[in-house]
Amino acid sequence: MDVSSSAFPKKMETNNYEKRFKTLVSALHKNAECPVCLETVKPPFKLCVQGHSVCVECMKKIDKCPLCQGKFVLENPVCVKNILEALPHFCRYSDTGCEEVVESGNDHEMFCGYRPIVCRSEGCSIKMPVVKIIDHYKSNHPEDVLVTKHEDKICTKALNNRKIEYIPVTLFNNLFWVVEVIDDTKNHFKILFEATPIGKLTQDYYVCVELKKDKMVYAFTLKAKVLSSCETKLKIDELEDLDEEYCMRIPRKELHRFSVNKIIAYSLNFFEM
Ligand SMILES: [Zn+2]
Ligand SMILES: [Zn+2]
Ligand SMILES: [Zn+2]
Ligand SMILES: [Zn+2]
Repeated sequence: MDVSSSAFPKKMETNNYEKRFKTLVSALHKNAECPVCLETVKPPFKLCVQGHSVCVECMKKIDKCPLCQGKFVLENPVCVKNILEALPHFCRYSDTGCEEVVESGNDHEMFCGYRPIVCRSEGCSIKMPVVKIIDHYKSNHPEDVLVTKHEDKICTKALNNRKIEYIPVTLFNNLFWVVEVIDDTKNHFKILFEATPIGKLTQDYYVCVELKKDKMVYAFTLKAKVLSSCETKLKIDELEDLDEEYCMRIPRKELHRFSVNKIIAYSLNFFEM
């Protein structure tokens, strides 16, 4: 039997099923839409004599049902409440492109690739979906190094430049950041890796960093610090408290030993485990 011809109708069937499922979910939501805030009602809600639903909060702004002028008579009827609680909903980031239908109890939205993130390039504070940030960097900040290979090399002027530098990395279908921090008060250079997950992570991610000059080699491995779903980056004092597993502190005088024309080059090797 020809495999390719049998695979095609099957995919069509799945697409069709998905489409019908989404239509059904939207119809059910439409039926439970509050006429005041236009959101699907969540308990506590009330029903009018005809069965139209409205949120208890929104009811404070009206004295009768805006759809039929009837009185509100029922609060949280068990059957409707249970159906609403079990009803899947469209991801809250559907406006920015997510097509996921989220079942009740699923934490998809915490890791949704369409949740907003603020660009970390200096002077740019544009907010956009996590999945679009790399393209944004490519077209708007090509001078900020982008790492897209497991093994890559970064050249930094960190010895005399900005205090904190973020370099975006896209690997393993996820978004990472190389974070370089110069701390003048402690006279060291800090390096760490943050992960902004696109989808729930099932692995840990590590980076092997190597500084090299002539016969000198300075190498260490760090674990990428996974940001919780709502964090866009670690705060300065959180960076300070990171333990050795995540963060390497290199004394500036050590760093100078690896510099060539005031530039430090180090190679990175990302791996998952
Ligand atoms: Zn409402
Ligand atoms: Zn009504
Ligand atoms: Zn989503
Ligand atoms: Zn930007």
